Amino acid sequence: MKSDIRVCSAWRERHDRPVYTLSRTCPVCGDEAENSAPAPFDPNDSYGEYRRALKRRSR
Ligand SMILES: [Zn+2]
Repeated sequence: MKSDIRVCSAWRERHDRPVYTLSRTCPVCGDEAENSAPAPFDPNDSYGEYRRALKRRSR
């Protein structure tokens, strides 16, 4: 089973796309990372692995 996947809480303001991480802070901007809800949209298919992992967690 995968560890919790978190997403930068400020990615909409700071990044072009969701920044996923396994740590508590964003590796890119250092802001707080929060438990990721299902992706609101598909930036591109390279995140399919993350989306499937999120579905398995069912929120
Ligand atoms: Zn960030």
